[in-house]
Amino acid sequence: MTTNSTPIPASHPATIPVTGTTTFSSLALAEPLLRALGEKNYTEPSPIQAQAIPYLLQGRDLIGVAQTGTGKTAAFALPILQRLSANPTPVTPRRPRALILAPTRELAAQIAQSFGAYGQFLKLSYSVVFGGVSASPQIRTLQRGVDILIATPGRLQDLERQKHVFLDKVEIFVLDEADRMLDLGFVHEIKRIITKLPPHRQSLLFSATMPLAIQELASTIVRNPARVEVTPVSSTAERIDQHLCFVDKMNKSKLLAHTINQHPTGLVLVFVRMKHMANKIVEQLAKDGILADAIHGNKSQGARERALENFRSGRRRVLVATDIAARGIDVKGITLVINHDLPEEPESYVHRIGRTARAGLEGKAIAFCDSTERNLLRSIERLIRRPIPVLKGHPHEASTTALHRHENEPSQVGGHRTQSHRSGPRLGSGIRSGSFVGTGRSGSRPAGEGHSNARPAFGRGGRSRY
Ligand code: AMP
Repeated sequence: MTTNSTPIPASHPATIPVTGTTTFSSLALAEPLLRALGEKNYTEPSPIQAQAIPYLLQGRDLIGVAQTGTGKTAAFALPILQRLSANPTPVTPRRPRALILAPTRELAAQIAQSFGAYGQFLKLSYSVVFGGVSASPQIRTLQRGVDILIATPGRLQDLERQKHVFLDKVEIFVLDEADRMLDLGFVHEIKRIITKLPPHRQSLLFSATMPLAIQELASTIVRNPARVEVTPVSSTAERIDQHLCFVDKMNKSKLLAHTINQHPTGLVLVFVRMKHMANKIVEQLAKDGILADAIHGNKSQGARERALENFRSGRRRVLVATDIAARGIDVKGITLVINHDLPEEPESYVHRIGRTARAGLEGKAIAFCDSTERNLLRSIERLIRRPIPVLKGHPHEASTTALHRHENEPSQVGGHRTQSHRSGPRLGSGIRSGSFVGTGRSGSRPAGEGHSNARPAFGRGGRSRY
């Protein structure tokens, strides 16, 4: 087996919630997979893995209600690898045997990395295709043939239309993060892709939430599915220590430098609404002696990859990002998420803070709110069904005292501590919150949005501000 050109990140201690009762070998996984899991230092399956793997090994269709961070990638990747390797067939040019659709390039690249890691002792091939990069290497790889194809919908549709890939030999189909797919407007691409799949196949759909639109979509994809569900609250959002700072708009950058300096260890992810702000903040932080990179829709593929790699490796402790650029990023070691601007979509707040506290680790989130953002704050607090505890006494508090609320709430002056909010109502269920032949050179590029070149980075039509 040749190795994938995608570098497989070093294993980190397994901190993901585990079942405690099930083992990977009791799930009847084949020896090459168990060996690969051993190399990743995974000792036990996570709940979604323990629940889903037996159904999937039986060939059942499945609906998985789970968000990123629960171990859902291995939950589908391991059975796919096992089933395909149990029935080896020579690769057919342009005709993959398994298709995984992911909403963003980052997620697609991460899924590919996972297949690379879990399948390293098997003789199967995989590749990843997504937009924003040249299609030529992807076309060449498809021409040679791969067993497993991981794709974003826009690029896959383009390749399929141009007959660089045919989906009539797909035995296993996965639609990952179905709710994100719909949010990003991929419904038409997905519906079209489904029509190209053979009727006899195994289908899996994963989604963090199950609104009606997803249920309807699911009914067109899966047949007699098993349903497995893991509650998101225990896996991410509830672990996050959330705080709010009222601040005048003009003082946000000073407060940002102060907040980062107050947290001298761990990676810090800063969210901004507009991409021009991301650049401005990086410049401002540099003046305060804090080295940071920015990622947003205007950055080139190469610049994004470098920024992500600098961040991942800890060379840059601070990354400033817009929502769309950060979507799907699974970087370990983010201990603090700062919302420099509150997002316009309250759900984005939950996605943003979910970048910390990954795989069972603790994390902290601090949101800045100026006088123009009160409505946004209200929408967020309605969604998460609790007020975010206010940090008072920080050096850049908003001058308008009228802004302050939660007057009775205990806080600590000068530090970043408030009374624990964990006794409050929990985050609601509406929360939503990456021998084996790696032929996909394109798989080595963690990147931005999962759209093809032909589209704006975010939103259909119009120029993106993100
Ligand atoms: P996912 O939800 O698939 O994005 O996985 C979240 C993180 O948990 C990834 O970094 C995985 O590498 C890691 N992970 C997945 N399964 C396990 C496991 N059984 N034990 C420890 N870590 C795991």
